[in-house]
Amino acid sequence: MATGGPEIEQLIQLLARLPGLGPRSARRAVLHLVKKKDQLMIPLSAALDKAVSAVRTCEICGNIDTVSPCSICADPRRDSGMLIVVEDVADLWALERAGVGPVRYHVLGGVLSPLDGIGPDDIAIGTLINRANDFREIVLAVNATVEGQTTAHFITDRLAGSGIKVTRLAHGVPVGGELDYLDEGTLSQALRARTEI
Ligand SMILES: [Zn+2]
Repeated sequence: MATGGPEIEQLIQLLARLPGLGPRSARRAVLHLVKKKDQLMIPLSAALDKAVSAVRTCEICGNIDTVSPCSICADPRRDSGMLIVVEDVADLWALERAGVGPVRYHVLGGVLSPLDGIGPDDIAIGTLINRANDFREIVLAVNATVEGQTTAHFITDRLAGSGIKVTRLAHGVPVGGELDYLDEGTLSQALRARTEI
């Protein structure tokens, strides 16, 4: 049952596709937007417009930014020689919020999952191997899921014999847990206590 006209209905349906928002919360959010048209709806619409034309995926690391290379890749102070490999941009942002230091990142954009037909060519493993030689240490900060660990093993095999130290996150990451949901203290502790593979 549509209420509020087709434009409002469409907005609700689009918002309902966002993670964490079902149709019910989307409807509430839209109602709130309509009530706060000047303070919220118009600025939100303008911000969305701006973001649509500004947003870029970094050609080097896969981060999302408004410039490519992204501000992290372009930052010359990130010279620790450590490259942190993550599944998703959300994990990169979580690590940055945790303040893990002058590191660089590589976003895989997924994990290996033979059952879903996701192989090495479907995620950013080739570009990772290509840039790996610029680093002393590769930290595999993938989720502690079966697919995450399969991906970690695959990358470790590809880097075997390269002389690059390969480590992974240790304590504090719950089995089956997703990095994005960890608090920042747990995340930075997990990075400090990483172990060599
Ligand atoms: Zn980048």
